[in-house]
Amino acid sequence: MIILVVNAGSSSLKYQLIDMQDESVIAKGNCDRIGIDGHLSHKTAAGVSVEEDCPFPTHKEAFERLVKALTEGEGAVISSMDAISAVGHRVVQGAEVFTKTTMVTDEVIQKIDDLKELAPVHNHGHALALWACQKIMPNVPQVVVFDTAFHQTIPQKAYMYGFPYEDYEKYHVRKYGFHGTSHRFVTARLAEVMGRDLKDMKVVSCHLGNGSSITAVQNGQSVDTTMGFTPLDGVLMGTRCGAVDPSAVTYVASKHNFTEAEMDTYMNKKSGMLGISGKSSDFRDITAASESGDMRAKLAKDILVYDIKKDIGAYAAAMNGLDAVIFTGGIGENAPNCREEVCENMEFLGIKIDKQANDFKGELRKISTPDSKVEVWVIPTNEELLIARDTLKMIQK
Ligand code: ADP
Repeated sequence: MIILVVNAGSSSLKYQLIDMQDESVIAKGNCDRIGIDGHLSHKTAAGVSVEEDCPFPTHKEAFERLVKALTEGEGAVISSMDAISAVGHRVVQGAEVFTKTTMVTDEVIQKIDDLKELAPVHNHGHALALWACQKIMPNVPQVVVFDTAFHQTIPQKAYMYGFPYEDYEKYHVRKYGFHGTSHRFVTARLAEVMGRDLKDMKVVSCHLGNGSSITAVQNGQSVDTTMGFTPLDGVLMGTRCGAVDPSAVTYVASKHNFTEAEMDTYMNKKSGMLGISGKSSDFRDITAASESGDMRAKLAKDILVYDIKKDIGAYAAAMNGLDAVIFTGGIGENAPNCREEVCENMEFLGIKIDKQANDFKGELRKISTPDSKVEVWVIPTNEELLIARDTLKMIQK
Protein backbone atom coordinates (compact mmCIF):
# COMPACT_ATOMS: atom_id res chain seq x y z
CA MET A 1 0.00 0.00 0.00
CA ILE A 2 1.48 3.36 -1.07
CA ILE A 3 0.45 6.65 0.53
CA LEU A 4 1.24 10.17 -0.61
CA VAL A 5 1.71 12.67 2.21
CA VAL A 6 1.26 16.34 1.33
CA ASN A 7 2.33 19.31 3.43
CA ALA A 8 1.19 22.41 1.57
CA GLY A 9 1.91 25.97 2.58
CA SER A 10 0.90 29.24 0.98
CA SER A 11 3.74 29.03 -1.56
CA SER A 12 5.10 25.50 -1.26
CA LEU A 13 3.93 21.92 -1.55
CA LYS A 14 6.14 19.34 0.16
CA TYR A 15 5.45 15.67 -0.43
CA GLN A 16 6.58 12.19 0.55
CA LEU A 17 5.59 8.92 -1.05
CA ILE A 18 5.58 6.21 1.61
CA ASP A 19 5.40 2.44 1.18
CA MET A 20 3.34 1.33 4.16
CA GLN A 21 4.62 -2.23 4.00
CA ASP A 22 7.91 -1.22 5.62
CA GLU A 23 7.09 2.48 6.18
CA SER A 24 9.96 3.49 3.91
CA VAL A 25 10.08 6.73 1.92
CA ILE A 26 10.10 5.94 -1.82
CA ALA A 27 10.50 9.54 -2.95
CA LYS A 28 10.11 13.03 -1.57
CA GLY A 29 10.30 16.57 -2.76
CA ASN A 30 9.09 20.12 -2.72
CA CYS A 31 7.28 22.31 -5.24
CA ASP A 32 8.43 25.70 -4.09
CA ARG A 33 7.75 29.34 -4.97
CA ILE A 34 4.13 28.74 -5.99
CA GLY A 35 2.55 32.00 -7.20
CA ILE A 36 6.03 33.56 -7.56
CA ASP A 37 7.81 31.58 -10.28
CA GLY A 38 8.27 27.91 -9.37
CA HIS A 39 10.91 25.29 -8.58
CA LEU A 40 10.73 21.52 -8.18
CA SER A 41 13.18 19.50 -6.04
CA HIS A 42 12.55 15.76 -6.21
CA LYS A 43 14.60 12.92 -4.73
CA THR A 44 14.12 9.17 -4.84
CA ALA A 45 15.23 6.56 -2.31
CA ALA A 46 17.58 5.22 -4.99
CA GLY A 47 19.39 8.56 -4.96
CA VAL A 48 18.06 10.15 -8.17
CA SER A 49 17.69 13.93 -7.85
CA VAL A 50 15.60 16.17 -10.08
CA GLU A 51 15.89 19.97 -9.87
CA GLU A 52 13.87 22.08 -12.27
CA ASP A 53 12.55 25.61 -12.58
CA CYS A 54 8.96 25.36 -13.76
CA PRO A 55 6.09 27.85 -13.62
CA PHE A 56 3.70 27.24 -10.70
CA PRO A 57 1.08 30.01 -11.01
CA THR A 58 -1.14 28.05 -8.56
CA HIS A 59 -1.10 24.90 -6.40
CA LYS A 60 -2.76 23.02 -9.29
CA GLU A 61 0.26 23.34 -11.61
CA ALA A 62 2.54 22.36 -8.71
CA PHE A 63 0.44 19.28 -8.05
CA GLU A 64 0.48 18.35 -11.75
CA ARG A 65 4.29 18.62 -11.78
CA LEU A 66 4.52 16.48 -8.65
CA VAL A 67 2.43 13.78 -10.39
CA LYS A 68 4.77 13.94 -13.39
CA ALA A 69 7.87 13.74 -11.18
CA LEU A 70 6.55 10.59 -9.50
CA THR A 71 5.45 8.85 -12.72
CA GLU A 72 7.68 10.09 -15.56
CA GLY A 73 11.35 10.74 -16.28
CA GLU A 74 14.41 9.60 -14.39
CA GLY A 75 12.91 10.37 -10.97
CA ALA A 76 9.83 8.19 -11.61
CA VAL A 77 9.08 5.68 -8.85
CA ILE A 78 5.57 4.46 -9.84
CA SER A 79 4.07 3.76 -13.26
CA SER A 80 0.88 5.70 -12.62
CA MET A 81 -0.91 7.52 -9.83
CA ASP A 82 -3.23 4.48 -9.60
CA ALA A 83 -0.48 2.93 -7.46
CA ILE A 84 -1.35 5.44 -4.72
CA SER A 85 -4.03 4.17 -2.31
CA ALA A 86 -4.66 7.46 -0.51
CA VAL A 87 -3.36 10.96 0.12
CA GLY A 88 -2.80 12.31 3.64
CA HIS A 89 -2.64 16.08 4.07
CA ARG A 90 -1.19 18.04 6.96
CA VAL A 91 -3.46 20.89 8.06
CA VAL A 92 -2.27 23.41 10.65
CA GLN A 93 -5.53 24.77 12.08
CA GLY A 94 -8.58 22.61 12.75
CA ALA A 95 -9.83 24.81 15.63
CA GLU A 96 -12.78 23.35 17.53
CA VAL A 97 -14.31 22.17 14.25
CA PHE A 98 -11.94 19.25 13.68
CA THR A 99 -10.92 17.27 16.74
CA LYS A 100 -9.52 14.27 14.88
CA THR A 101 -8.19 12.96 11.58
CA THR A 102 -10.95 13.33 8.98
CA MET A 103 -11.87 12.03 5.49
CA VAL A 104 -11.93 14.81 2.91
CA THR A 105 -15.18 15.96 1.30
CA ASP A 106 -15.99 19.25 -0.48
CA GLU A 107 -17.57 20.44 2.75
CA VAL A 108 -14.45 19.59 4.78
CA ILE A 109 -12.22 21.56 2.38
CA GLN A 110 -14.58 24.53 2.57
CA LYS A 111 -14.49 24.42 6.38
CA ILE A 112 -10.67 24.27 6.37
CA ASP A 113 -10.63 27.31 4.09
CA ASP A 114 -13.16 29.10 6.33
CA LEU A 115 -10.72 28.66 9.24
CA LYS A 116 -8.12 30.76 7.42
CA GLU A 117 -8.98 33.72 9.62
CA LEU A 118 -7.47 31.75 12.52
CA ALA A 119 -4.39 30.65 10.50
CA PRO A 120 -3.85 33.21 7.74
CA VAL A 121 -0.45 31.89 6.69
CA HIS A 122 -1.47 28.25 6.41
CA ASN A 123 -5.07 27.15 5.97
CA HIS A 124 -5.80 28.75 2.61
CA GLY A 125 -2.71 27.04 1.14
CA HIS A 126 -3.94 23.70 2.50
CA ALA A 127 -7.37 24.25 0.92
CA LEU A 128 -5.82 25.15 -2.45
CA ALA A 129 -3.73 21.96 -2.39
CA LEU A 130 -6.76 19.89 -1.38
CA TRP A 131 -8.83 21.28 -4.24
CA ALA A 132 -5.98 20.67 -6.70
CA CYS A 133 -5.53 17.12 -5.45
CA GLN A 134 -9.25 16.40 -5.76
CA LYS A 135 -9.23 17.60 -9.38
CA ILE A 136 -6.13 15.66 -10.35
CA MET A 137 -6.79 12.46 -8.36
CA PRO A 138 -10.61 12.44 -8.08
CA ASN A 139 -10.90 8.73 -7.27
CA VAL A 140 -8.25 8.53 -4.58
CA PRO A 141 -9.41 8.97 -0.97
CA GLN A 142 -7.94 11.96 0.84
CA VAL A 143 -7.48 12.39 4.55
CA VAL A 144 -6.62 15.47 6.63
CA VAL A 145 -4.53 15.35 9.81
CA PHE A 146 -4.64 18.49 11.98
CA ASP A 147 -1.75 19.98 14.01
CA THR A 148 -4.28 21.22 16.54
CA ALA A 149 -6.32 18.01 16.95
CA PHE A 150 -4.04 16.40 19.57
CA HIS A 151 -4.50 19.44 21.81
CA GLN A 152 -8.29 19.33 21.80
CA THR A 153 -8.10 17.35 25.07
CA ILE A 154 -6.61 20.39 26.90
CA PRO A 155 -9.07 21.34 29.69
CA GLN A 156 -10.88 24.66 29.48
CA LYS A 157 -9.05 26.13 32.47
CA ALA A 158 -5.82 25.71 30.49
CA TYR A 159 -7.00 26.88 27.08
CA MET A 160 -8.94 30.00 28.05
CA TYR A 161 -7.45 33.49 27.95
CA GLY A 162 -8.50 36.09 30.50
CA PHE A 163 -10.51 38.07 27.94
CA PRO A 164 -14.28 38.54 28.35
CA TYR A 165 -15.95 35.15 27.87
CA GLU A 166 -18.19 36.45 25.06
CA ASP A 167 -15.14 36.91 22.84
CA TYR A 168 -14.24 33.26 23.24
CA GLU A 169 -17.80 32.42 22.14
CA LYS A 170 -17.95 34.99 19.36
CA TYR A 171 -14.41 34.97 17.95
CA HIS A 172 -13.11 31.59 19.19
CA VAL A 173 -10.12 33.28 20.84
CA ARG A 174 -8.41 30.59 22.93
CA LYS A 175 -5.29 28.46 23.06
CA TYR A 176 -5.29 25.84 20.29
CA GLY A 177 -1.70 24.58 20.36
CA PHE A 178 0.31 23.31 17.40
CA HIS A 179 2.90 20.62 16.51
CA GLY A 180 0.26 18.11 17.70
CA THR A 181 1.28 15.49 15.15
CA SER A 182 4.89 15.65 16.32
CA HIS A 183 4.04 15.53 20.04
CA ARG A 184 1.70 12.59 19.38
CA PHE A 185 4.34 10.73 17.36
CA VAL A 186 7.19 11.11 19.85
CA THR A 187 5.13 10.33 22.95
CA ALA A 188 3.79 7.15 21.33
CA ARG A 189 7.35 6.18 20.37
CA LEU A 190 8.53 6.91 23.93
CA ALA A 191 6.00 4.50 25.39
CA GLU A 192 7.19 1.86 22.91
CA VAL A 193 10.88 2.23 23.78
CA MET A 194 10.22 2.46 27.52
CA GLY A 195 7.96 -0.59 27.28
CA ARG A 196 5.22 1.25 29.16
CA ASP A 197 1.62 2.20 28.55
CA LEU A 198 1.27 5.90 27.71
CA LYS A 199 -2.04 5.77 29.60
CA ASP A 200 -0.10 5.61 32.89
CA MET A 201 2.51 8.23 32.09
CA LYS A 202 3.24 11.91 32.66
CA VAL A 203 5.45 13.28 29.91
CA VAL A 204 6.77 16.67 28.83
CA SER A 205 7.51 16.75 25.11
CA CYS A 206 9.84 19.52 23.87
CA HIS A 207 9.61 20.08 20.12
CA LEU A 208 12.42 22.56 19.43
CA GLY A 209 12.93 23.76 15.86
CA ASN A 210 12.52 27.07 14.06
CA GLY A 211 9.16 27.00 15.79
CA SER A 212 9.16 25.42 19.24
CA SER A 213 6.51 24.16 21.60
CA ILE A 214 6.46 22.27 24.86
CA THR A 215 3.52 19.99 25.65
CA ALA A 216 2.35 18.25 28.79
CA VAL A 217 1.02 14.78 27.96
CA GLN A 218 -0.82 12.94 30.72
CA ASN A 219 -2.33 9.49 30.16
CA GLY A 220 -1.62 9.86 26.44
CA GLN A 221 -3.54 13.12 26.14
CA SER A 222 -2.30 16.66 25.70
CA VAL A 223 -3.28 18.59 28.85
CA ASP A 224 -1.40 21.82 28.14
CA THR A 225 0.96 23.31 25.58
CA THR A 226 2.96 26.49 25.14
CA MET A 227 1.78 27.63 21.71
CA GLY A 228 -1.56 29.35 21.81
CA PHE A 229 -4.12 30.97 19.55
CA THR A 230 -1.31 31.01 16.97
CA PRO A 231 2.19 29.44 16.86
CA LEU A 232 3.64 32.73 18.18
CA ASP A 233 3.10 32.03 21.88
CA GLY A 234 5.36 30.13 24.26
CA VAL A 235 9.16 29.86 24.27
CA LEU A 236 11.59 32.06 22.34
CA MET A 237 11.91 30.79 18.75
CA GLY A 238 14.09 31.39 15.68
CA THR A 239 12.33 34.61 14.63
CA ARG A 240 9.24 34.60 16.89
CA CYS A 241 9.19 36.40 20.21
CA GLY A 242 7.18 33.81 22.16
CA ALA A 243 5.14 34.91 25.18
CA VAL A 244 5.26 38.62 26.02
CA ASP A 245 3.05 40.97 28.03
CA PRO A 246 0.26 41.96 25.57
CA SER A 247 0.64 45.59 26.67
CA ALA A 248 4.23 45.54 25.40
CA VAL A 249 2.78 44.76 21.96
CA THR A 250 0.46 47.77 21.87
CA TYR A 251 3.24 49.97 23.33
CA VAL A 252 5.86 48.94 20.73
CA ALA A 253 3.29 49.25 17.92
CA SER A 254 2.53 52.82 18.97
CA LYS A 255 6.23 53.73 19.32
CA HIS A 256 7.04 52.47 15.80
CA ASN A 257 3.71 53.61 14.38
CA PHE A 258 3.22 50.06 13.13
CA THR A 259 0.13 48.82 11.33
CA GLU A 260 -1.30 45.48 12.51
CA ALA A 261 0.53 43.70 9.67
CA GLU A 262 3.82 45.41 10.49
CA MET A 263 3.52 44.48 14.15
CA ASP A 264 2.78 40.93 13.10
CA THR A 265 5.95 40.82 10.99
CA TYR A 266 7.95 42.32 13.86
CA MET A 267 6.80 39.61 16.29
CA ASN A 268 6.91 36.68 13.85
CA LYS A 269 9.90 37.44 11.62
CA LYS A 270 12.18 39.93 13.38
CA SER A 271 12.13 38.78 16.98
CA GLY A 272 13.21 35.60 18.75
CA MET A 273 16.84 34.49 18.61
CA LEU A 274 17.32 36.66 15.51
CA GLY A 275 16.00 39.77 17.25
CA ILE A 276 17.92 39.19 20.48
CA SER A 277 21.25 38.25 18.85
CA GLY A 278 20.97 40.61 15.89
CA LYS A 279 22.80 37.86 13.99
CA SER A 280 20.84 34.73 13.13
CA SER A 281 17.72 32.72 13.84
CA ASP A 282 19.62 29.45 13.39
CA PHE A 283 20.60 27.67 16.60
CA ARG A 284 23.88 26.47 15.06
CA ASP A 285 24.94 30.07 14.40
CA ILE A 286 23.74 31.14 17.85
CA THR A 287 25.79 28.39 19.52
CA ALA A 288 28.92 29.17 17.46
CA ALA A 289 28.67 32.93 18.10
CA SER A 290 27.99 32.37 21.78
CA GLU A 291 31.04 30.09 22.08
CA SER A 292 33.22 32.76 20.52
CA GLY A 293 32.14 35.31 23.10
CA ASP A 294 29.17 37.07 21.47
CA MET A 295 27.13 38.10 24.51
CA ARG A 296 23.87 38.72 22.67
CA ALA A 297 23.99 35.31 20.99
CA LYS A 298 24.66 33.79 24.43
CA LEU A 299 21.69 35.72 25.80
CA ALA A 300 19.42 34.36 23.02
CA LYS A 301 20.47 30.80 23.88
CA ASP A 302 20.09 31.45 27.62
CA ILE A 303 16.56 32.82 27.16
CA LEU A 304 15.51 29.75 25.16
CA VAL A 305 17.02 27.35 27.72
CA TYR A 306 15.41 29.25 30.62
CA ASP A 307 12.00 29.26 28.93
CA ILE A 308 12.12 25.49 28.36
CA LYS A 309 13.23 24.82 31.95
CA LYS A 310 10.35 26.88 33.34
CA ASP A 311 7.82 25.07 31.17
CA ILE A 312 9.08 21.64 32.24
CA GLY A 313 8.70 22.73 35.86
CA ALA A 314 5.27 24.22 35.27
CA TYR A 315 3.98 21.10 33.54
CA ALA A 316 5.40 18.78 36.20
CA ALA A 317 3.40 20.84 38.70
CA ALA A 318 0.28 20.79 36.51
CA MET A 319 0.46 16.98 36.16
CA ASN A 320 1.56 16.39 39.78
CA GLY A 321 4.58 14.43 38.60
CA LEU A 322 6.82 13.59 35.69
CA ASP A 323 7.98 10.27 34.23
CA ALA A 324 9.85 11.43 31.15
CA VAL A 325 11.04 14.39 29.12
CA ILE A 326 11.42 14.18 25.33
CA PHE A 327 13.60 16.35 23.10
CA THR A 328 12.72 16.46 19.40
CA GLY A 329 12.79 18.82 16.36
CA GLY A 330 15.90 20.25 14.68
CA ILE A 331 17.34 21.68 17.91
CA GLY A 332 16.03 18.99 20.26
CA GLU A 333 17.46 16.19 18.12
CA ASN A 334 20.76 17.81 17.14
CA ALA A 335 21.90 20.23 19.85
CA PRO A 336 23.46 18.44 22.86
CA ASN A 337 24.37 21.80 24.41
CA CYS A 338 20.74 22.89 24.50
CA ARG A 339 19.62 19.58 26.05
CA GLU A 340 22.41 19.66 28.63
CA GLU A 341 21.71 23.23 29.70
CA VAL A 342 17.96 22.61 29.96
CA CYS A 343 18.54 19.57 32.18
CA GLU A 344 21.24 21.19 34.34
CA ASN A 345 20.27 21.81 37.98
CA MET A 346 17.01 19.92 37.66
CA GLU A 347 17.92 17.20 40.18
CA PHE A 348 15.25 18.52 42.56
CA LEU A 349 12.71 17.42 39.94
CA GLY A 350 14.36 14.03 39.47
CA ILE A 351 16.13 14.90 36.19
CA LYS A 352 19.77 13.88 35.82
CA ILE A 353 21.40 13.58 32.43
CA ASP A 354 24.50 11.69 31.43
CA LYS A 355 26.67 14.23 29.61
CA GLN A 356 28.53 11.57 27.67
CA ALA A 357 25.39 9.73 26.62
CA ASN A 358 23.99 13.11 25.53
CA ASP A 359 26.86 13.86 23.16
CA PHE A 360 25.33 12.89 19.80
CA LYS A 361 22.96 14.06 17.08
CA GLY A 362 19.84 12.85 15.37
CA GLU A 363 19.18 9.46 16.91
CA LEU A 364 16.73 7.86 19.28
CA ARG A 365 18.54 7.51 22.63
CA LYS A 366 18.07 7.79 26.34
CA ILE A 367 20.25 10.54 27.80
CA SER A 368 19.39 10.36 31.51
CA THR A 369 21.52 8.50 34.05
CA PRO A 370 20.32 5.10 35.31
CA ASP A 371 19.44 6.66 38.70
CA SER A 372 17.51 9.58 37.21
CA LYS A 373 13.93 9.38 38.47
CA VAL A 374 12.72 11.04 35.29
CA GLU A 375 13.89 9.45 32.04
CA VAL A 376 15.10 11.88 29.40
CA TRP A 377 14.98 10.79 25.76
CA VAL A 378 15.90 12.19 22.37
CA ILE A 379 13.30 10.97 19.89
CA PRO A 380 13.51 12.04 16.23
CA THR A 381 10.08 13.15 15.08
CA ASN A 382 8.39 11.98 11.89
CA GLU A 383 5.18 13.87 11.25
CA GLU A 384 4.86 12.54 7.69
CA LEU A 385 4.91 8.95 8.88
CA LEU A 386 2.20 9.62 11.46
CA ILE A 387 0.06 11.30 8.78
CA ALA A 388 0.58 8.25 6.54
CA ARG A 389 -0.36 5.88 9.40
CA ASP A 390 -3.48 7.90 10.21
CA THR A 391 -4.41 7.96 6.53
CA LEU A 392 -4.03 4.19 6.24
CA LYS A 393 -6.17 3.66 9.35
CA MET A 394 -8.90 5.92 7.97
CA ILE A 395 -9.16 4.16 4.60
CA GLN A 396 -9.12 0.74 6.26
CA LYS A 397 -12.09 1.71 8.46
P1 ADP B 1 11.23 23.67 11.51
O1 ADP B 1 10.62 24.15 12.78
O2 ADP B 1 11.29 24.73 10.44
O3 ADP B 1 10.74 22.32 11.05
P2 ADP B 1 13.64 22.24 12.29
O4 ADP B 1 12.92 21.29 13.16
O5 ADP B 1 14.34 21.71 11.09
O6 ADP B 1 12.78 23.48 11.86
O7 ADP B 1 14.74 22.97 13.21
C1 ADP B 1 15.56 23.98 12.75
C2 ADP B 1 16.50 24.36 13.88
O8 ADP B 1 17.31 23.22 14.22
C3 ADP B 1 17.46 25.49 13.53
O9 ADP B 1 17.56 26.40 14.60
C4 ADP B 1 18.77 24.76 13.37
O10 ADP B 1 19.85 25.56 13.72
C5 ADP B 1 18.64 23.63 14.37
N1 ADP B 1 19.59 22.57 14.04
C6 ADP B 1 19.59 21.76 12.96
N2 ADP B 1 20.69 20.98 12.95
C7 ADP B 1 21.43 21.32 14.04
C8 ADP B 1 22.67 20.89 14.59
N3 ADP B 1 23.39 19.95 14.01
N4 ADP B 1 23.08 21.48 15.75
C9 ADP B 1 22.36 22.44 16.33
N5 ADP B 1 21.18 22.89 15.86
C10 ADP B 1 20.72 22.34 14.74
